Order: sequence, then structure tokens, then C-alpha cells
Amino acid sequence: MEKTIAVLPGDGIGPEVTEAAVKVLQSIAMRYGHTFHLKQAAIGGTAVDQFENPLPQETIEVCEASDAILLGAVGGSKWDRNPAHLRPEKGLLNIRKHFDLFANIRPVKAIPALLGSSPLKQEVAKEVDMVIVRELTSGLYFGEPKQRSEEAAVDTLVYTRKEIERIVDQAFEIARTRRGKVTSIDKANVLETSKLWREVMEERMTAYPDVEVEHMLVDSAAMKLITDPRAFDVMVTENMFGDILSDEASVITGSLGMLPSASVRSDGFGLYEPVHGSAPDIAGQGKANPSAAILSAAMMLRHSFGLHTEASAIEAAVMGVLDDGYGTGDVMRNGKGIVSTEKFVTKVIEEL
Ligand code: ATP
Ligand code: MG
Repeated sequence: MEKTIAVLPGDGIGPEVTEAAVKVLQSIAMRYGHTFHLKQAAIGGTAVDQFENPLPQETIEVCEASDAILLGAVGGSKWDRNPAHLRPEKGLLNIRKHFDLFANIRPVKAIPALLGSSPLKQEVAKEVDMVIVRELTSGLYFGEPKQRSEEAAVDTLVYTRKEIERIVDQAFEIARTRRGKVTSIDKANVLETSKLWREVMEERMTAYPDVEVEHMLVDSAAMKLITDPRAFDVMVTENMFGDILSDEASVITGSLGMLPSASVRSDGFGLYEPVHGSAPDIAGQGKANPSAAILSAAMMLRHSFGLHTEASAIEAAVMGVLDDGYGTGDVMRNGKGIVSTEKFVTKVIEEL
């Protein structure tokens, strides 16, 4: 298979972790006989410094000519006082908007070697294996009008039937490749948007008779994530509920440095990035955990390219290195087996 991948390292530890993911992709290409053309471009604060634009036109063109995007992280205190259009984060918002990446996908799966770091009981945490599908480009964060006066403020929550259809379809498709269950999260007892959401969910489920559907109110879902997260397979929800629930879910696995994510659209094109940010406090020191970036690359192979065997091989290799007792400082709590970013990648490639 021949594919072109845009690589946007970004800021802070972004360059270190994307370099690691690129090495793993190259190793996969060699081993399985694929050709990956990797095209690097600037985004975030680094792009602001170079081009006075967090998402330069050149970067958009590189991404448009690619089959998928691999991103590191953006942001850092250096740019905190910049005007809104020169903020690193603006680069990320703009790229999602430009490519209409409406579905944010976050797998949350127990990592056997790290169960001790989960806030949940180990026997509960060890069986967690779910995917959160969050609508990313509409809802309360984008609805107009947004208004502010001294005495009152307004945000607007709007969802169209079309916007709901495309996100729930994503969730159904993902459920089909897993345990075949979708839990739709809403607040249909009070919100009109949620009533429409439920209606659309009921309509679309007839096209997926092989998938079991469950509706749950967001407040119950927030509790269930802590008391019995094993009950979830695929969770689908609107933008703000998804923002909150996906952060809640992310602590279950015990490390921010381990979590991959994807932002995709219906044709399979997508942007893949670690859940963690640019971690400026450890940038350039060889301490960054590259697992989230490497697992994001695996998600790319699976979701955008349909390379399931290769994706599973990467996931198994990362888990294998952790099982062998090696990891970066953020995951090796007792101080033993701590290795640098580079060493960790070397071990992952050996394991492959
Ligand atoms: P953002 O606003 O970009 O989300 P943040 O400050 O909220 O950034 P992160 O940058 O994701 O959060 O990280 C918070 C802390 O977690 C970092 O300061 C760092 O110490 C640790 N951390 C995050 N990611 C990693 C990683 N990949 N490897 C090691 N430590 C990490
Ligand atoms: Mg953050």
C-alpha cells in the first residue's frame, strides 16, 4: 500500500513524540512492504514564529495532498499573550474546521502494566475497553448567538438532523468492528437538542440491526464511568458532554502519555494526535512518553488505511515493552525501568 502522511510536529514535546511515531511507521512500512511518504509541515506556535500564522497555507496544502495527518501537540506559555488569531491552539481548531473533522474518537482501554495507576479498583479497571465518539464541530461551543452583557450571557445549543446522523453513523460503524453495542448519551429529559438526538438515533439504528443500542442520560453516564465502566463498548455523544466524559474516562487508564485520539470525517480522512498537550515542562529532555503518539499512528493505520494487522502489531509492541518493565518516567512510578523517549522507541521497534 502506498500512502502520503502529513506530519505536523508542533510545539513542546510534539516534535519528540511525532519523531518516535514516524520511526515506528517506517519500521512497519519496511516489515509489511508498504510505502509511506511522510511530508512534514508547521503548525501551532512554531508556525506562528516562522510564518506568523498557526496554520500556514503551505501546511494546508501539504495536508490536502495527503491521505491522513499525524500531529504532535500545540501550545506553550511563550504564545499565551498572543492575540486570538496568533494562538497555537487556533491552528488546531482551524485545521479541524478546514477538513470538516466532525468525529473525535478516543479509545479508552486498560493497560495491564499500568493498572496500579488507575484510580479504580484493579479488577474493574482491567476490563475497561471502550471508545468514546464525540461530535466535534457543532453544539454549544459553536452555536450562534453568543452574547455577553454586564447582567447576562448567552450561549446557543443547536444541532441539525444531518449533524447528528453523521456522528451516530460513525459510532455504529465503529461498534460493528467491536462488541456491537452503542450507548448514546444525552439529556433528553430537558434538552430539545437531546430529544432530536434520540429521535435520530432511533431512526438510524434500523440501518444497523446487528448493533445493540442503549440510551443513557449524561448524569448517569458520568456515574457509570466510575462505578462500572465495563458496561460501555462505544459511547456516542454531543460536543460538550463528550468533552467532559472523555476527560473523565481518560484517567481510568492511569496515564495521559498513553492515550491516542483521532478526529475524522466520513470518507476515512483523519487527523491523529495524542490526547496529551505539549508538556513544555519536559520538552527537549528525552523524557516524553511517545506511546500516545505511536498509538495514534496505529489508529491511523486502522481507521484511515484499513491496515488492522499492522495497527494491532504496533499496539502489542507498545504493551510488550511495558510488560517487560520498561517505560518513560511518567509511567514507571517506582523508579525502576525508566528509559528515555529514544530508548523506548528502539524497544518498541525491536518488539515489532
Ligand atoms: P494542553 O493545554 O496543551 O492540554 P496541559 O498543560 O493541559 O496542556 P499536558 O501538556 O498534556 O497538559 O500535560 C500535563 C503534564 O502531564 C505535563 O506537564 C507533563 O508533565 C505530563 N505529560 C503530558 N504528556 C506527557 C507525555 N507524553 N510524557 C510524559 N509526561 C507527559
Ligand atoms: Mg489540557
